[in-house]
Amino acid sequence: MAFTSIKDWKEGIISNAEIDKYLVDGKDFIDNQAIFATLDRQRQPDPKFIRDILQKSLSITTLSSDETAALLQVTDPELWQEINQTALAVKKKVYDNRIVFFAPLYCANHCVNNCAYCGFREANSLEKRRILTMEEVKRETASVLNEGHKRLILVFGEHPSTDVDYMVECIKSVYSVQEIAAKSGQPTNIRRANINAAPMDIAKLKKLKEAGIGTYQVFQETYHRETYSQVHPANTLKGNYRWRLYALHRALEAGLDDVAIGALFGLYDWKFEVMGLLKHTHDLERQFGIGPHTISFPRMTPALGSWLSDHSEYILSDDNMKKVVAVLRLSVPTAGLIVTAREKADIKLELLQLGCTQTDASTRIGIGAYSDQKKELNKDKEQFTIGDPRDLDEVIREVGKLGYISSFCTAGYRCGRTGETIMGMLSHCVEGKYCKLNAVLTYREYLNDYASPETKEIGEKLIQQEIAEIEGADYFKQKPHLLTRFRQDYGETLNGKRDLFI
Ligand code: SAM
Ligand code: SF4
Repeated sequence: MAFTSIKDWKEGIISNAEIDKYLVDGKDFIDNQAIFATLDRQRQPDPKFIRDILQKSLSITTLSSDETAALLQVTDPELWQEINQTALAVKKKVYDNRIVFFAPLYCANHCVNNCAYCGFREANSLEKRRILTMEEVKRETASVLNEGHKRLILVFGEHPSTDVDYMVECIKSVYSVQEIAAKSGQPTNIRRANINAAPMDIAKLKKLKEAGIGTYQVFQETYHRETYSQVHPANTLKGNYRWRLYALHRALEAGLDDVAIGALFGLYDWKFEVMGLLKHTHDLERQFGIGPHTISFPRMTPALGSWLSDHSEYILSDDNMKKVVAVLRLSVPTAGLIVTAREKADIKLELLQLGCTQTDASTRIGIGAYSDQKKELNKDKEQFTIGDPRDLDEVIREVGKLGYISSFCTAGYRCGRTGETIMGMLSHCVEGKYCKLNAVLTYREYLNDYASPETKEIGEKLIQQEIAEIEGADYFKQKPHLLTRFRQDYGETLNGKRDLFI
């Protein structure tokens, strides 16, 4: 879109018609009083009720508000043990023992907003601004590929110079890069580029769809309206709570099947935010029949020049963070749960064991930091601080020791297993079976193409166990064509063929 000034550009962003159409009787789906009342009603939940809820979760059904509130209100440590064990059982049932890896790619840090917690905010004069050129995007992509990644999430501030057309260019650039794996000489490229960017109108979202993005991710930050207004000044685009609240409704309407929600934990009460995420899920399911593809729960970490990021009264403890993950795992069993490098290595590992399904590794969030490889010097271009800068090989090795298989599978959206189709398959625990096969194929690729000798040693044992499990599983015995195809693809992958998926 042509624009003469930032002010004109801003005026053209928000379409009230694309908010109002999703309201019910002029109301959105977050009713503070109703959420507080539900939490209050479940203040002292009966253990029998909690155990019934755990049984319901095991049948892979989204929980109700009262059920979720009841879980959040449990205080008995023994009951929490049961909750945690069930969360893991639900994860195993839907997602098996896989962890999907990705890397974030920060493309630009110009931003017209002034979010109180973020280093990229316009008023932060300490932040050095940079917009990657397409050559730089390609260079960053090459660096990430050379670690062994296949999935990226591209992250942007909100600014006319990095509007949707810039994003589309970035996506094309990312997909155009091909690298050669040093250990095996095999070609590699990014197979899925997701986007984390500001809310857009449907016409722009259609451009992202055409560019071939995977998931579109927008975090509400806080579902609590008053807190939202305090941390997002009213005269900024982000100050419009409802424009953001319906960003993913518009995305689904634009045909982007995989949408990702999230809340920035640390801005307001964690129980309220979990209820907000649940209400968001319910409304997407009600209006589109599709829940979120993933849920994120970034914990606020100190950001350059942000007092709030260090001093909020709602900073979340590790214990409560674990509760957030366990409850979300049970309440929205089909959603992938993402834990990021904001978390330190030890707590990240614990959260993975409570039901998270995805994580990033080798993470650099400075603009241009992957190819610069000067992460310590890039602080003034970072949005916040990260807790786990370990490289992919180390994290894969560590989770491998715990029996988790690392997956780079991107088959789902390339085989049409997105949106409603994937939700149905997940709730019947079928998608997990395909993913298991594809996880093994992509793990095989990683072990041959990138793994260090130590990681390979652990990986080889694990992959043999996985194959034995696949060969012995009733599900695959009843579908011998899948097994035949898997055996053939595995053999070809071992012999150097790449990007085979089922
Ligand atoms: N500008 C876009 C937006 O606001 O939607 C893109 C996202 S921003 C670069 C990515 C996410 O980082 C935000 O949605 C927010 O949840 C998170 N974030 C911002 N400041 C943070 C902080 N201090 N600690 C942890 N996460 C933070
Ligand atoms: Fe800009 Fe997003 Fe940071 Fe807010 S969170 S200042 S919108 S980059």
